[in-house]
Amino acid sequence: MRNRGSGDMDKESARVQQSAKDEGLVKDQESTKDLESAKDEESTKDEGLAKAQEKIAVLRCETVSEVCAGAGCFKAFNARRLHFANTPQDAELIGFFTCGGCSGRRVSRLVKSLQKSGLTTIHLSSCMLLVDEYPRCPHLAEIKETISKQGIKIVEGTHH
Ligand code: SF4
Repeated sequence: MRNRGSGDMDKESARVQQSAKDEGLVKDQESTKDLESAKDEESTKDEGLAKAQEKIAVLRCETVSEVCAGAGCFKAFNARRLHFANTPQDAELIGFFTCGGCSGRRVSRLVKSLQKSGLTTIHLSSCMLLVDEYPRCPHLAEIKETISKQGIKIVEGTHH
């Protein structure tokens, strides 16, 4: 049997060292890939947050709803006109509801319900804001406070 000479041992030791290096390199490359992929996921999440879609509901006067089907509000929204002029094109109208009658007893409950669908903004219908040609809403301030406390942005007005 032939004893391994020191030349063989050196070669073997060099081979083992090289293989350990290669393994280290592969691990380093894998962990770099993991980091990059985690960064990509994080930036996708950030973009999603930055571009959160606006979801709008119109709140209107129960009394006026007896004589108005709401066409003016929808036309203004669809055309992004008047009080919807700053509304992004990809915004969705997800709700159209009345206050429930004086003193706006339905507002808090329905805002809460719409928040489950991602509500971001309430437009107070123009009929709620009339001051001359129609009796003024005596509960406007309380209604606005209720909506603000629920963390929802308020825009005053729809179509006039
Ligand atoms: S609370 Fe205001 S918006 Fe609601 S029915 Fe009364 S007047 Fe109309």
